[in-house]
Amino acid sequence: MTLSIRSRLLLAMNLLAIGVGVAVGWAGVYVSGRAIEQRLVDESARNAAGLFGMMRLPFSDGLMVRLRQVLGTEVAAGPVDRLEIVASSLPQPDVQELRSQLTQGVMPRRVSLGDRVYLVGGADAAERSVSPAGGRMRLYVLVPEEQIRAAQKASEESIILVTAAAILVATLVAFWLSHTIANPIRRLAGHMDRLSEHAGEDAPAADMGAALDRGPKELRRLAHSFDRLLARLLQARRQLARTARLATLGQVSASVAHELRNPLSGIKMNARVLADELAKAGLADDSLDRIIQEADRMDLYVAELLDLAGKNAGPPEPHDLAMLPKVRLDEIGESVLAVAEGRCRHAGVEVQRRWDAAAPAVRAHGTQLRQAIFNLVQNALEAMPSGGALTLAAGPAEAGRVRFSVTDTGTGVCVPDGEDLFEPFFTTKPGGVGLGLYVCRRNIERHRGTVGYESSRTGTTFWFELPAAD
Ligand code: ADP
Repeated sequence: MTLSIRSRLLLAMNLLAIGVGVAVGWAGVYVSGRAIEQRLVDESARNAAGLFGMMRLPFSDGLMVRLRQVLGTEVAAGPVDRLEIVASSLPQPDVQELRSQLTQGVMPRRVSLGDRVYLVGGADAAERSVSPAGGRMRLYVLVPEEQIRAAQKASEESIILVTAAAILVATLVAFWLSHTIANPIRRLAGHMDRLSEHAGEDAPAADMGAALDRGPKELRRLAHSFDRLLARLLQARRQLARTARLATLGQVSASVAHELRNPLSGIKMNARVLADELAKAGLADDSLDRIIQEADRMDLYVAELLDLAGKNAGPPEPHDLAMLPKVRLDEIGESVLAVAEGRCRHAGVEVQRRWDAAAPAVRAHGTQLRQAIFNLVQNALEAMPSGGALTLAAGPAEAGRVRFSVTDTGTGVCVPDGEDLFEPFFTTKPGGVGLGLYVCRRNIERHRGTVGYESSRTGTTFWFELPAAD
């Protein structure tokens, strides 16, 4: 049998209330019964004995009868040192019977005289009281048992009444408590049911914390953490959908890249032939060099795309630097600026160069470094849509390395916690693909270099360092 939380709470709390109520009630009945017996028997005897001592009353049958009228119980008296009855309010036959019961040694707590049962209490009277036997006297009070039982019963009834009322109150409290605990849980479950019904749709983030704004603190906390969890799940689902879209895009772009390769090599080859022809005729044209450089860059980009779409997207294979030509980073920076300067002018971006002549050369594939710098410059320009300053710098760094940096005056990098902007497909731009920094890092790491950035609200510097050529 599966019980709801509410029924379980109700059952547990009611059982507890009834159990505690019955135990306390029983203890109350027992203790009060004893107290009533003591008050009616022993205390009456003490009071009566005190009265005799205080008033120096003589112990006679007549006085005992008067005392019975006052106390409402039978009384008897006898010497302390002998078990005997010398005066009593009892009729003679009962006195004889009482005497016969005394001879058995001690005064019993309970005696039967005729058809009545009495509880007996005794107390010694003070020396001053007048004793017919000459010595100290003891006064006995004989209270009919039914009188004690009646008093005990009246007390029992009121104890039972109070206990029942307490159990009733406890039951009501249990009902209210189970209601306040179980109701928010039910609402929480209902809310989750509704959310799971919309699981297939792009549901808005749940606001369960608000739904339980008047529930217990712990449940509100649970609801808030559930809200957070759900928001993350939704975010992860969107991310998954985006990744799936990008994967399709990746496949498409891989096939496009594949198709682009041949015409690109054709353009490059023809531009080279043309440049050679012009050189033979003693002529030179810078734009042909730029066509070849850009075609090289595109070729590299196409190769990266194919690489990424294929299985080889792991850590890049490092180059054997000794086999590579020496290149100067400031020269590569200039070649990127030659292509990007028109765009900078158009975007109102002022270009600054900080080339340190002391910067050593590096051993590298010029085209790969060119592409890395080109991507950084492109990002910098995109970070300054309303203009600003773009600074390219190259100079010596620690441990025999050369540092290159691209600084912009944009609004800074804004990356959510736990995200790495160098990861493929990480982008915060509406039309971004998220490959620029990924390709940049791969190209630098292939040359045993490192990349990094520093960013604030007033701008960002992306940098890389490469080992200087010997
Ligand atoms: P994409 O440019 O397609 O977004 P990138 O890999 O080049 O891909 O850049 C990834 C993300 O890094 C960008 O979407 C942007 O959030 C952040 N980023 C890169 N460069 C800068 C920069 N200079 N200033 C601010 N954010 C930048």
